[in-house]
Amino acid sequence: MGRQTYGIVGYPVKHSLSPAMQNAAFRELGIDAEYLLFEVAPEKLEDFLGSLKRKGISGLNVTIPHKIKAKEYLEQSGSLDENAKRLGAVNTIKVSEEGLAGFNTDGPGFYRSLIEDLRLEPEGKSVFILGAGGAAKAIAMYLGNTPAKISVFDIDEDKVKGLAEHYKKYFDAKRLHVVAGEGAVKASLDASDLLINATPIGMNESDPSPVDKKLLHAGMYIYDLVYNRPYTQLVKEANSMKIHAVTGLGMLLYQGAIAFEIWTGRKAPVSVMRRSLREALAP
Ligand code: NAP
Repeated sequence: MGRQTYGIVGYPVKHSLSPAMQNAAFRELGIDAEYLLFEVAPEKLEDFLGSLKRKGISGLNVTIPHKIKAKEYLEQSGSLDENAKRLGAVNTIKVSEEGLAGFNTDGPGFYRSLIEDLRLEPEGKSVFILGAGGAAKAIAMYLGNTPAKISVFDIDEDKVKGLAEHYKKYFDAKRLHVVAGEGAVKASLDASDLLINATPIGMNESDPSPVDKKLLHAGMYIYDLVYNRPYTQLVKEANSMKIHAVTGLGMLLYQGAIAFEIWTGRKAPVSVMRRSLREALAP
């Protein structure tokens, strides 16, 4: 077998950290493969996915804005795993003799990072998600009925309602609470074991914490999905209160590690992948 090709398809895609992480993994395991960037405009996505086998591409990651269209394509012309079906989005494609198979590793990646990095088992816990965009949806739809309760707040209440509607098609509707209003945020946070920041606040160095420090409490855990900086203001403030808190580098790492395992059938070398991500992010 000659050199294998993998890559990430997005639009734009040039700032992706995936090539650094995946190429480091291939090198570490002595796999003769390269991981490339494929910048494909939305109107060309279908043709591109249809040409993967012909081009000799063995696997893909799919990123913004193609995750939903890729799911629709694979529904017609391939297969989908349960996560991708439930979420309605694909972030990983495996190409084999049988055809194209779509997966979503965002939720499983978050879960593995929660266990490995934050050391928190979400079963029976109360989880508060700030933000109701794509990342929040991937997490809520993967955690499903595992936590006792998932509370979601977004400045755009319609987005939370949309997420709740989607959630209740698959899970116990009573477990997902739409949090409306500042007072409700405080009460919900007081009763939460885990706070997840699923807003983009924290990506810029000058960003404040998205949550007033007074609303945090000892004994809670914090997962900040922001991954482009070693510390966010939220994580710093949490640490100053001795609250266990991590940034989102681990979710990025494990969603990629799970994709690697789907493509190669080998255990991903996570410490090498983590190091390469840190190096790629270093200023
Ligand atoms: P998104 O789809 O834009 O969703 C973010 C949501 O948060 C939007 O609905 C936004 O509302 C809302 N929001 C903004 N400020 C808020 C506030 N102060 N309080 C409550 N809600 C607020 O973004 P996404 O793709 O879900 O990504 C969210 C974050 O997760 C980003 O930082 C992203 O980099 C990170 N992420 C990390 C990973 C990882 O692997 N670590 C994976 C995916 C995403 P408006 O649209 O009205 O502003």
